[in-house]
Amino acid sequence: MGYVFKDGLAFAKELDKSDSLHYVRDRFYLNEGEIYMDGNSLGLSSKDAEEALLNVFNIWRQEAIKIWGAENGRYFNFSKNIAEKLKYLINADADEIIIMGSITTNIHQGIATFYAPTENKYKILVDELNFPTDIYATKSMIDLKGYKAEDVLVKVKSKDGLTLSEEDIISKMDEDVALILLPSVLYRSSQLINMELITKEAHKRGIIIGWDLAHSIGCVPHDFKSIDPDFAVWCSYKYLNSGPGATAGMYINRKHFGMSAGLKGWFGNKDESQFLMNHDFDQDKDANGWLLGTHNIFSMAPLDGVLNIFNEVGIEKIRAKSLHITAYLMYLIDNKLSKYGYSIGNPREDQRRGGHICLEHHEAYRISLALRDNKVIPDYREPNVIRLAPVALYVSYEEVYRLVEILERIINDKEFEKYSFERVTVL
Ligand SMILES: *Cc1c(COP(=O)(O)O)cnc(C)c1O
Repeated sequence: MGYVFKDGLAFAKELDKSDSLHYVRDRFYLNEGEIYMDGNSLGLSSKDAEEALLNVFNIWRQEAIKIWGAENGRYFNFSKNIAEKLKYLINADADEIIIMGSITTNIHQGIATFYAPTENKYKILVDELNFPTDIYATKSMIDLKGYKAEDVLVKVKSKDGLTLSEEDIISKMDEDVALILLPSVLYRSSQLINMELITKEAHKRGIIIGWDLAHSIGCVPHDFKSIDPDFAVWCSYKYLNSGPGATAGMYINRKHFGMSAGLKGWFGNKDESQFLMNHDFDQDKDANGWLLGTHNIFSMAPLDGVLNIFNEVGIEKIRAKSLHITAYLMYLIDNKLSKYGYSIGNPREDQRRGGHICLEHHEAYRISLALRDNKVIPDYREPNVIRLAPVALYVSYEEVYRLVEILERIINDKEFEKYSFERVTVL
């Protein structure tokens, strides 16, 4: 919005020169000559993450069981320590955040805790565009409560197959809805939902609401002090760059402290009594009461390390560059690629889009294969979407410019035609 761009490689280089984040790129491991546009699926490794991981390995090697007491219990309290660093990304208190599991397990935890169906209020509102695992977890919780998904699950429909309208979501918040689970940013179209509006409307109707921040955390700042959701979940391997399967996170609003955790485990017990080995669970007083088992230190260490970069740079600056570099990519698509059948599927307004561009083309699949052979790592989503994430921390404007030149050449020189339509699993 209000951005002024010019065509040409020289201009891209100028943008890199004036980019105050350009220096952080050197902290990440990029492959020479490769343009990485898939940070929304798996963020890149960094020196900070590597150092933190090797460091805990060494502590384990030297200290064995004493690792739990090393550095004043830093690793025994690893979730709390990481929460202290991560809280700035969502503007929440550290005692409202836990580091555990995966998005999938944490949705189970959220629904197991907050879904308390009654005769008149028992429905769960989701959307038809959400990621499958969110729906699987929700359905399995519905089964466990003895209900049937077809009676309980309500899906907000999308009018265009890409985006959701906030009005449509609100219009589905009927009296009988008990809980809502929605993504902050839609994984295909990059639409950023107005979380504050939706949360307020849910609360007006006495509905519990949880957000899945998979495609926003580390890219879009969230102000949980004003959004005030009941719970939220996220993964750490996308924009948080913490590695494949890195330990995920969960937020529990402090107004719910004291509620019984739906799923319980010994790390959710109060520290004082955890090792008394009682069979009566003595739940910790804050979000830590929702923890389950022993911290998976090696999958948490890279997050601990990389959060230093986030805090050094600041999430506001990351968002500003992300909006700017994605706007630049949209400008180039409009000006150079629309004549080749490419179009933009994501919303264009800053306040309605996340960190990736949803590029549509009827030949998207074969183009994505050609991109790989041109040393570009994209991400393809059926039926016609190429997701391109110029991640603020490590993608340069020059790379974005070169990417657009490659996208142009793939069509102009008919490079895509040498590939088969037959789907191979794109990883
Ligand atoms: C990436 C993603 C997931 C992945 O779930 P995991 O349990 O981390 O494998 C879930 N939901 C959404 C919306 C995602 O984008």
